[in-house]
Amino acid sequence: MPSLFQQIKAGQIWDFHGGIHPPARKKLTSQAAVAKMPLPDRLYIPLRQHIGVAGKILVKAGDLVLKGQALTGADNAMAIPVHAPTSGKVLSIEPYPSAHPSALPEPTLVLQPDGLDQWRPRHALDYLHTDRAHLLARIQQAGIAGMGGAGFPTHIKSGASTGVDYLIVNAVECEPYISADDVLMQHEAATIVRGIDILCKLLNPKAVLIGIEDDKPLAIAAMQQACSGKSDYLVRVVPAKYPSGGEKQLIQLLTSKEVPNGRRPLDIGIVMQNVGTVFAIAQAVEDDIPLISRIVTVVGQTLQHSQNVRALIGTPVGALLDLCGFAPEPQQRVIMGGPMMGFTLPTLQIPLVKTTNCIIAPTRHELPAAGPEMDCIRCGACAEVCPAVLLPQQLVWYAKAKDYDQLKSYNLADCIECGACAYVCPSEIPLVQYYRVAKAEIRELAREELKAEQAKARFEARNERLERDKQLRAERNQALAAQRQSMLAEQQKQQIIAAQQRLEQSDQPALSKEQIIAERERKKAEARAYQAAKAETVTDTVPAADQPAADPRAAAVAAAIARAKAKKQADAAPVTETVPATEPDADDATTADPRKAAVAAAIARAKAKKLAETAAEPAVAEPEPQKEPDPAETDPRKAAVAAAIARAKAKKLAETAAEPAVTEPEPQKEPEHAETDPRKAAVAAAIARAKAKKLAEQAGTSATPTEISTPESAEPAAPAAAIVDPAAVKQAAIAAAIARAKARQQPPPTEPEQPS
Ligand code: SF4
Ligand code: SF4
Repeated sequence: MPSLFQQIKAGQIWDFHGGIHPPARKKLTSQAAVAKMPLPDRLYIPLRQHIGVAGKILVKAGDLVLKGQALTGADNAMAIPVHAPTSGKVLSIEPYPSAHPSALPEPTLVLQPDGLDQWRPRHALDYLHTDRAHLLARIQQAGIAGMGGAGFPTHIKSGASTGVDYLIVNAVECEPYISADDVLMQHEAATIVRGIDILCKLLNPKAVLIGIEDDKPLAIAAMQQACSGKSDYLVRVVPAKYPSGGEKQLIQLLTSKEVPNGRRPLDIGIVMQNVGTVFAIAQAVEDDIPLISRIVTVVGQTLQHSQNVRALIGTPVGALLDLCGFAPEPQQRVIMGGPMMGFTLPTLQIPLVKTTNCIIAPTRHELPAAGPEMDCIRCGACAEVCPAVLLPQQLVWYAKAKDYDQLKSYNLADCIECGACAYVCPSEIPLVQYYRVAKAEIRELAREELKAEQAKARFEARNERLERDKQLRAERNQALAAQRQSMLAEQQKQQIIAAQQRLEQSDQPALSKEQIIAERERKKAEARAYQAAKAETVTDTVPAADQPAADPRAAAVAAAIARAKAKKQADAAPVTETVPATEPDADDATTADPRKAAVAAAIARAKAKKLAETAAEPAVAEPEPQKEPDPAETDPRKAAVAAAIARAKAKKLAETAAEPAVTEPEPQKEPEHAETDPRKAAVAAAIARAKAKKLAEQAGTSATPTEISTPESAEPAAPAAAIVDPAAVKQAAIAAAIARAKARQQPPPTEPEQPS
């Protein structure tokens, strides 16, 4: 059995599942000359026209640029620069409707052509004498991306160095109406072959397969002519069937290989490039012409001249249509791309981009709009035509339900959005639109998940970094602490050594432990002696009279005690000394003597003074030695003053207490006041009783012994001359009784009457 390569070399063609055969309608443009689009008034150049990121902007508004000058720079692998399609002036860089079904604004450079169409300097490369890196760099700097519609960066796709078995040039162009590649092959076959030569140098494949549909006889002939000298360049004609131009479908057609789900053609040793891309590679390497123009099919029954036009990138669609004699209908539809995979433009201001291969301006009859959507009848026609072997009816069901997990499990990602299912659907369900929306939502979710994962990774990396820093700090601190300890230990060691050396040099024997203790005790004793001397010095600074009052609190207490004693003595003095004056005993006549009373008062004062002094002495003579004096009371002068005041008060109190006894000699009783003063009345009564007793004794000398039964009868009898008259005795007895009665009528004395 021949090998695969032998089968391919023998010209065998395979088939793929499904597919449809819509009307081609290519002859409207495929056999006409390629027109050249004149310079428009404005060129609108989107800064990103490929799958990847926009390059860094290199110009600003007001700059004059030359044809082919880079407007953005390729600062990373996924960036593709854009170039000035002609010379002119940069008017602005602003948001402008994008070449997308949504027409969402995107950053766009607005260029005003100057009409000179002046090129920048160009540097051609001889690819045979240029290494791969320079060739790839030239391809990237020329801004070449897949021109078949995908827009993938060509330099990446062409960078595979090993494992490429087949290079497939996609010249199928299976969609109806489109003939741009057809005419390109008709007119630029030789350049295309040189482009294949460059790619072969980069990829080094076993063979080059150029796939062309059988409805392009002129292109087939031109390419066979151009490849006549290349035994490994195999032009393969495939039956016209939509979507034969799909990457996976064409690979299967030409090699019988199927690209596994989620894998790339390179994984099975195949690289595919669009024929227009190959032509652009050749121009970029050989002539240093970046991708600034392309052939676009402008077709439709609303146009006077349907034709292929070589137009500059950035040309507004409206300008292209005007060039072809556009006569729009009411509610005219203009489609960018083919009728199967293209989209209706929201506005004719949208510019031509690198992936634009067709503009269709059909009449309503020519391409009627889709009718109202109806329910799926489960006819299965969509599954029969699906080239990716999917279940379109299931996909649309889950797309409507937004069940993304089920969409993934039904391999929505393998859908090439060919539109074959919608083309055959009897219910006119816009299946592809549902798939596109679902894919966009899944992509958005994937982006969000990626962001979350990246944020989580950053968070975890930050935590790890913080933990690592913390650990490093701890280790560093530990090392520093150990270093400090070792330094201290070394210092101590050096100090000990130095001390020992000093001892050795001083010729003195080292002190023993007992000597050290004795020395310490000696120093302590010296300190105590110093403290004692200091205390004595403080005491000596106090005046001699006030020295005992070193402790003011003790002196104050002693003074208070002295005052209390003095008061007590003073209180006691009137009682003991004045009683004889107020209640004189009839038998002690001396108590009523004022001189005696004065003497007694003097004695009392002397006693009180002595008591006060005695009470004050301990406070003066016995300061508390252990008690630490209060700072406010350690002032010896203040303490001495306070003690002196205390002593003066005590002395005054003592004198005050003694005064009544001294200054109150018993006054002579006034007869007229005798009856009002109870004490005087008592004295009078006692005098009366004495007189009566005397009279009775005098009278008893003449009375009978029975009448003298009182104790007084034992007294010796009075002389006979003292005997008085009985009437007088009786009168005296009456007077005594009256005095006693008066005395009883007076209220008892409560306290001694104070002299005024
Ligand atoms: S659009 Fe997708 S689902 Fe429909 S036929 Fe094409 S590949 Fe299959
Ligand atoms: S072709 Fe349309 S109606 Fe038929 S199964 Fe598919 S989606 Fe349903």
